[in-house]
Amino acid sequence: MKAISDARPLYPQRPAGQWHNRRVAFSVAIIALLFVVPFVRINGQQLVLLNVVERKFIIFGVFIGPQDYWLFGLMMLSFFVFIVLFTTVFGRLWCGWACPQTVFMEMVFRKIEYAIEGDTGKQKLLDKAPWTTDKILKKGLKYTLFLLISFAIANLLLAYVLGTDALYKIISEPLQDHLALFSGIVAFTAIFYWNFAWLREQACTVVCPYGRLQSVLLDRNSINVAYDHERGEPRGKLHKGTIRTEGDCISCFQCVAVCPTGIDIRNGTQMECVNCTACIDACDAMMDKVGFERGLIRYTSENAITKKSAKVITPRTWGYAAVLVLLWSALGFVVATRTDTQTTLFRAPGSRYIENADGTISNLYTFKIFNKTNATIKPSIRLDSPHGKLLFAGSPDLTLEAAGMSEGTVFVVIPKSELKSRKTVLKMSVSQGSRQLETFETTFIAPEE
Ligand code: SF4
Ligand code: SF4
Repeated sequence: MKAISDARPLYPQRPAGQWHNRRVAFSVAIIALLFVVPFVRINGQQLVLLNVVERKFIIFGVFIGPQDYWLFGLMMLSFFVFIVLFTTVFGRLWCGWACPQTVFMEMVFRKIEYAIEGDTGKQKLLDKAPWTTDKILKKGLKYTLFLLISFAIANLLLAYVLGTDALYKIISEPLQDHLALFSGIVAFTAIFYWNFAWLREQACTVVCPYGRLQSVLLDRNSINVAYDHERGEPRGKLHKGTIRTEGDCISCFQCVAVCPTGIDIRNGTQMECVNCTACIDACDAMMDKVGFERGLIRYTSENAITKKSAKVITPRTWGYAAVLVLLWSALGFVVATRTDTQTTLFRAPGSRYIENADGTISNLYTFKIFNKTNATIKPSIRLDSPHGKLLFAGSPDLTLEAAGMSEGTVFVVIPKSELKSRKTVLKMSVSQGSRQLETFETTFIAPEE
């Protein structure tokens, strides 16, 4: 296994070709989406919020507060199964096309590097050259741009984690009022800068746990960027004027030269491969030059290469899909039947019924009411049946902040005539205005007749 300290700087050749063009278009869409999503609001709340600090999440409009940890767990589990299923079938499509690390590294930071320092050869020369004015200007410009983009990404992270309101505040209000937040932005700017200026592909090859899972998740039917060894081997240089007896690989090493993780795809599927497609383009360009058919390196599976069968759906895939459908169904049911409040109301420990002089019986309860929405609500607790009334100890005002909680004690008072047995089930509800938010039951104790 490669360690960070062993790493040597890589100078991958500038990629070009049809797959690269597709990836550029896709990356533009991904980056636009990443920067737009936290600013989209539905019913006044952010479309996506991942506030791990306060354990508040909004996933496409569904608010998940601290008390909804099981819903969050279910969502995470579904996401994990989805990742497993997706990876089993499509390999590391995510890494090459949509992972923010790859997208920013290959489509933003490396593009800036190529634009300022030139391609591989020029970069190597510049790094070896003495510190002339030209080198200082080039390096200074490159790392200033890296720093500014890292700062923008750190701000974006804040918008996702603490929300755009926090971001507006820090921008519009005096800095000394938000020193902690600003320190966080500075710290994350430094981390992103270190990641994109120094760590680079090692984030994928050494740090990322998803990359490490590949050996478990992939099978011989998984689709990956792969070298067709049946067609390419035995490899050998192309010699003009001789009849070729080798395979189609002409040992030009172009696939190695463009690889941003520095591997040779011809050695088979490797954990370091992020499926960036650069080697497909490089090899296709070479095949065009020498007049061979394109696709020596392509999206394919090991079985498609060796057995000429391209079976994508295997029993394992069906198994994952079945689990995923079950999880999504459960998730859909839970979200659809979810209430805005969650109330617990229990008889106060050690308390008995109280017989009142007016012919009523009282039971004392303690209650807790959680607001499961991201807005302030003013709910009221009601006794729906049997007929009776609630007497709150203290103020009956239950105004709840977003994701807030209120607790208190309440007497339930019921006329004896309404009570047919020692234990009576009370049907209760929580409403806001005329809108019922939740219903629940509890028991009421009366003396034996
Ligand atoms: S082997 Fe090919 S697809 Fe994999 S990382 Fe290297 S260039 Fe990208
Ligand atoms: S680019 Fe293609 S032909 Fe050249 S070494 Fe790689 S696999 Fe062989």
